[in-house]
Amino acid sequence: MLGSPVLRQVARPVDPDTEGLLVKDVVADLERIQEEEEGLGLAAPQIGEGLRIFLLESSSLPVLCGHRIFVNPVLSPSGPPCRREEGCLSVPGVFEDVIRPSHLLVTALDADLVPFEMALDGMAARVAQHENDHLDGILFVDRLGSLRRRLLRGRLAEISRGAGEARECRT
Ligand SMILES: [Zn+2]
Repeated sequence: MLGSPVLRQVARPVDPDTEGLLVKDVVADLERIQEEEEGLGLAAPQIGEGLRIFLLESSSLPVLCGHRIFVNPVLSPSGPPCRREEGCLSVPGVFEDVIRPSHLLVTALDADLVPFEMALDGMAARVAQHENDHLDGILFVDRLGSLRRRLLRGRLAEISRGAGEARECRT
């Protein structure tokens, strides 16, 4: 949730030689929470893990050809900018138009740490960029114009305070 420090940090890459088990644990958590939340994607920092891993929901995004887990992804966006509404599990109740490049080349490791590469466009390219932003501590609201950000400031502060209170309750 917005307000959680890990959401604002740059996540670290996974070491594929030594961290296979850690990746399996994080992937299992991502898949479990993804099932509960039914979003189009989920990034490790959203579940409190500062690692460069995200999940895209391949059942909703057939262009992924079954690829679901992206570890240490590298994105090369291209193509004309495209505007579309986005929301985020970590910023509940906020939906805003975001402009992003429409095409993307992605290289990553899969859940078994095998490298792959794919070209994406449309919704899949958008969701991949949204999730990859999470790995760099960036939220979609950061990509809005300054006026929209100003208008949302109160709402975002409210969500952050809520997350802070929830943290205090847990400890
Ligand atoms: Zn998000």
